[in-house]
Amino acid sequence: MEEWFDMRVDPAQIAKERAKARELRRTNWWRAQIQKGICHYCGGEFPPSELTMDHIVPLSRGGHSTKGNIVPCCKACNNAKKYTMPVDEILTELDREDPGCMDAQGPEAADVEIELPDDLMRELVGDTDDAPDDPGKDAPDDPEQGI
Ligand SMILES: [Zn+2]
Repeated sequence: MEEWFDMRVDPAQIAKERAKARELRRTNWWRAQIQKGICHYCGGEFPPSELTMDHIVPLSRGGHSTKGNIVPCCKACNNAKKYTMPVDEILTELDREDPGCMDAQGPEAADVEIELPDDLMRELVGDTDDAPDDPGKDAPDDPEQGI
């Protein structure tokens, strides 16, 4: 039941990340994590044997077996977490681990603060017959004139 959320993660990649997780589980780093005895989610204290390795962003959603994405988790939270995954929590964690990767990629980001050259702008607006370099005509941008 890893594929309930359709991210089309390559199964080969998941297998690779699982292998990396197994490697990490043997490291002193991980031992230190569970020796602290604190569940990342509920903050409760547990003996190391009660803590499991949890991926904050599940591998099935494209998460990686990195230290930033792996936390100690009590069994109760591990079970509960399988069914709830707040989106903003994912984004926060992603942002923390890899700043910039989720930024300014939204569809609306492309439209803001685009500056068109003046002549292109006039072309688009269709206001080309009033040549801007003709000071003899009445200048509409002068509010003092014609009072
Ligand atoms: Zn917990």
